[in-house]
Amino acid sequence: MSKGKIAVIGANQGGLVFAKFACDYGFDVTIYEACAKDKVSYNWTDDCEFKVFEELGFGMPPQNVWYRKKNWTFVPPRKEVEVPLHIPEDELDLSCFRRPLNDWLEGFALKAGAKIHYSTPVKKVVVDDGKVVGIKLNNGKTVKADLVVDIGGVDSQVRRSLPEKFGIQREVADSDKFYVRRTYFNIPEGTELPTATNKVYLKHLNELGISWCILGENKDEADVLIGRLGKLPDKVHANALEDMKKDNPIIGDKVVNGGQLLAIPVRHPLPCFITDGYVILGDSACMTIPMLGSGMASSMRAAKILADVIRRPKDGKRFSKENLYRYQYKFMTQIGCRHAGIDLMKNWLLASPKGAVDFLFNKGVVGETVMRQGAEGRMVMMSPKELVLAGVRGATKPILLIKLVLLIVNMYRAYFFVKLRMPKKYKKRAFKNWQEKYEAMYK
Ligand SMILES: Cc1cc2nc3c(=O)[nH]c(=O)nc-3n(C[C@H](O)[C@H](O)[C@H](O)COP(=O)(O)OP(=O)(O)OC[C@H]3O[C@@H](n4cnc5c(N)ncnc54)[C@H](O)[C@@H]3O)c2cc1C
Repeated sequence: MSKGKIAVIGANQGGLVFAKFACDYGFDVTIYEACAKDKVSYNWTDDCEFKVFEELGFGMPPQNVWYRKKNWTFVPPRKEVEVPLHIPEDELDLSCFRRPLNDWLEGFALKAGAKIHYSTPVKKVVVDDGKVVGIKLNNGKTVKADLVVDIGGVDSQVRRSLPEKFGIQREVADSDKFYVRRTYFNIPEGTELPTATNKVYLKHLNELGISWCILGENKDEADVLIGRLGKLPDKVHANALEDMKKDNPIIGDKVVNGGQLLAIPVRHPLPCFITDGYVILGDSACMTIPMLGSGMASSMRAAKILADVIRRPKDGKRFSKENLYRYQYKFMTQIGCRHAGIDLMKNWLLASPKGAVDFLFNKGVVGETVMRQGAEGRMVMMSPKELVLAGVRGATKPILLIKLVLLIVNMYRAYFFVKLRMPKKYKKRAFKNWQEKYEAMYK
């Protein structure tokens, strides 16, 4: 007999991994996905930490799913210097072809017994007696469930349908999202190929966001992403693209793939993931690394944490918020705490006065170590020698240096506030207090 009926919204990485483990643990799991099978996710590659697949016990994805990504080179706004990372080849992320990756993950879910309904959008949650008791589909059908796992993305319509009294943030502010267009262009014949193959422009054109230009693996296309915080008007995009073309002759005029406008959450995780019979997970809970918006690994890790928590309930009934809180606690104290710190770094970089980022890069105050840590979702850790060097290099702008030190202090404050001060067990008042203080760090 099943241990409970679970409805999952979204068949991306988080949904598929959760379904696999929950089925293994004896739950009856059905995924509802709005898109047709061949339209889920994107027809391009994205970078994912390889360790996560081993942690989940999946081994490495098959060879047709990935290749090793190349090292990033960071470019500050005035482009006077470039800071390349030198991560050893076998430590680099995997560039995963999104749809083949999903096919592989779907195989685990189906083998474990999950049911997946594609082209089946979910309209809203069904609430009874103060609990989520199921979902209503767009086709009018109501499905009862002991647990609804909402992995429906940053703009999840289902999360929006929750009654306010459940205390889960229904909307993610535009200012907490990167609006991006990722477009693949042809490479004009005879163009010399760059040695810095993966360039990311920080505060590109001194605007609030990043742009990147990546030489495609087969050296036949240029992958150009332009992302801005809050909104990306066509004019801003066109202007940024023109600038990228000047710098990167590999960007031709013909669009060969992509180009759609998409939103990525780039904030610290939402303050509440749970209520009775319902949780949010993945982009829906803003689990991406705030610096570059990577969210695949966090989403898969969160999925495993949630499955483990419902497998062995401790506090309250299996699907009560008391028990589900253990999932939020584990995610936040293992992963979310780092994102909480990195969000402050992202905000600081974007809000810094014109010239500040250039100074820090040009003088080498911020270098490879810090950029690697931020991009990988780790806290900034510098050796005493690196700290002294940074101090000496930045000595001509002591105020900026002090602000940088304060930033690092605040990042650690945020990290420890989540790691050590989040209540271990669900107690309404204590959790609310914690949530208020957590959000206040970003005001
Ligand atoms: C341009 C771009 C580049 C990115 N690059 C990277 C990268 O390099 N590395 C990385 O780790 N991450 C990257 N990300 C982020 C990454 O896509 C997500 O963090 C990751 O896919 C985890 O998502 P998820 O499992 O939460 O599902 P999501 O990606 O949020 O998917 C939600 C799913 O739910 C479905 N859905 C939504 N509403 C409903 C509904 N009402 N009913 C049924 N189904 C619904 C959607 O169709 C979708 O399939 C990038 C994102 C973008 C847009």
